[in-house]
Amino acid sequence: MTFKYNKLNAICMWCKRKRNPHPDYKNETIPTKIFMSEKGRQIELCFSCYEDDKFQSNNIEFKKNLDFKFETMTLLKLLS
Ligand SMILES: [Zn+2]
Repeated sequence: MTFKYNKLNAICMWCKRKRNPHPDYKNETIPTKIFMSEKGRQIELCFSCYEDDKFQSNNIEFKKNLDFKFETMTLLKLLS
């Protein structure tokens, strides 16, 4: 699993972090990786959000979950 370091405009789509949380690298962007959801969405996640989502699921569930979470977040944005 390779995460991209110092990617320009990196942002985690779940926690919205842009900066590297590690104090030694605080001027760098957060390491992220773009995952493809089951429906073909590109979801950019930081390492800790990826770990949280991946923890209890296999790869197929993980990809389905990306869509579910994305759609839930979109819905919440519309309602607020
Ligand atoms: Zn995150």
